[in-house]
Amino acid sequence: MMMNQGRIVKVSGPLVVAENMRDSNMLDVVHVSDMKLIGEILEIHEDRASIQVYEETSGLGPGEPVVSTKAPLSVELGPGLIENIFDGIQRPLQEMREASGNNITRGIKINALNREKKWRFVPTVKSGDNVSGGDIIGTVQENEVFEHRILVPIGIEGTIESIQEGDFTIEETVAMLKDKKGSIKALTMLQKWPVRKERPYKEKLSPTEPLITGQRIIDTLFPIASGGVAAIPGPFGSGKTVVQHQLAKWAEADLVVYIGCGERGNEMTDVLMEFPALKDPKTGHPLMKRTVLIANTSDMPVAAREASIYTGITIAEYFRDMGYTVALMADSTSRWAEALREMSGRLEEMPGEEGYPAYLSSRLAQFYERAGKVKTLGSDDRVGAISAIGAVSPPGGDISEPVSQATLRIVKVFWGLDYNLSYKRHFPAINWLQSYSLYQDKLADWYKENVSRDWTTYRADMMRILQEEAELQEIVQLVGIDALSPADRVTLEAARSIREDYLQQNAFNEQDTYTTLIKQYRMLRIILSFYEKSHDAVNKGVEINDLFSMPVRERISRMKYISDDEGSKPFDEIEEELSNQVQTLIGEKDR
Ligand code: ADP
Repeated sequence: MMMNQGRIVKVSGPLVVAENMRDSNMLDVVHVSDMKLIGEILEIHEDRASIQVYEETSGLGPGEPVVSTKAPLSVELGPGLIENIFDGIQRPLQEMREASGNNITRGIKINALNREKKWRFVPTVKSGDNVSGGDIIGTVQENEVFEHRILVPIGIEGTIESIQEGDFTIEETVAMLKDKKGSIKALTMLQKWPVRKERPYKEKLSPTEPLITGQRIIDTLFPIASGGVAAIPGPFGSGKTVVQHQLAKWAEADLVVYIGCGERGNEMTDVLMEFPALKDPKTGHPLMKRTVLIANTSDMPVAAREASIYTGITIAEYFRDMGYTVALMADSTSRWAEALREMSGRLEEMPGEEGYPAYLSSRLAQFYERAGKVKTLGSDDRVGAISAIGAVSPPGGDISEPVSQATLRIVKVFWGLDYNLSYKRHFPAINWLQSYSLYQDKLADWYKENVSRDWTTYRADMMRILQEEAELQEIVQLVGIDALSPADRVTLEAARSIREDYLQQNAFNEQDTYTTLIKQYRMLRIILSFYEKSHDAVNKGVEINDLFSMPVRERISRMKYISDDEGSKPFDEIEEELSNQVQTLIGEKDR
């Protein structure tokens, strides 16, 4: 039968308007022109459809055919995802390059996941077992570090008729299932899911554990919960990339999904070059062995960026369904929002602030809401989590602009990168006075139980000293340092120690790049002890200069390089030295 075929009436950049599209639905994927460019229907008025096209539209003209696939934009889920690099609509970049050279040919059709490769499938259920959507029926060891769990597709329920171990492609049958009505269904390792639809789970859980990152300023001052959402605005050169790489490497997540919405073209190339070169410090294998990259290269139209965050989060959800913890990073959501703005402009929608569409906030919220810690479908009560970290790149670093503001209303953690700090080579350049974490209270119990009962008090003390420093610095600027009391001078010195000996963390130093929570606690304790003992000493008349030049100060400044293998001993020694040296100064005073 001849399909009812649409025809192009207008082309405007990534927007194509077609008529005779009455049979199509909103969000259907369509093939545009004989090149079969991939597009998605954003709007239908009577028989006219407005289509967002994910490929270059130059050369298209009125009259060319448009055919709806009658299916929404979907991703393929199954073995082969890991280590892959996809574009915003999940086309595998490597295979596309091989097929068409560096400039991707338009309309190229390549499956997201390899159809030929065989995977060793090991069943975890047997004939006669009852299973339903989300249950694990077997596993595939996808590489040295990642076990892919094969799930019953959502919406399917029945009894396993047959299942066997063996080498299968993702389209071959690994199990037969008989459903309630008695019909037989073949299960494969390949599933599809529409990207704009959240994958279902049993229950959303309140995040109560931190996503431990080993980055001191994050873990101590502004922790993100596992399953939490954070934003990191970064002016150019403020160390955004290094922070994200550190999180990808060190955050306690089983998997990393990194969505790169390229800024200028070459920045995305950086990610494509750098990421595969990163080593996973925990396993020694390349980090890619537990990573999926979504990359919009510069030769792709901006519209593809819009789809990429949905493609990324759907893949993350699929891993979460397996019971894993996923760290999802989107860099940068500002570029994504710009794609949204461009499309909205072409659709001639009523513009909101700075030309962004009025639905910018709700779209952002929909994205971040898909993160979280959940009890997954399936009978074994698995728990999985997606922590989402969105980078924002406000023009000129000014976060009063709409994308930053909309993001801040949604996320619970804000790590504000500060250009001035990076200029002073204070890294990570997260501004401690502007940043915040709303998970603080929820995580307090966890820190108390798992690190120390004193953790929250220490943290509060540290924050207070930093805030006092800011106030004192204003006074110093007005009247000079000599106007300060010795007690205030001690506060300033303690704050300096917090900044330099604690918050500054060198990502490129083997010992400093990661700090365990127990080491963070020990370091913190010593710095606060210096603060308190010094206060006590100045009250007893000890000269501040004598205090500030105690030999133990040198050891404190090198605490961050102490290896974990040495346990608590070096820290105990430092504490003892500190006590002794302060006591000596007090003693000399009394004499
Ligand atoms: P951005 O992505 O914001 O443009 P980068 O992340 O590339 O900035 O950081 C710029 C430079 O700052 C890096 O090349 C590095 O020298 C330095 N830097 C950033 N963060 C750190 C860190 N945590 N430790 C040491 N150096 C850092």
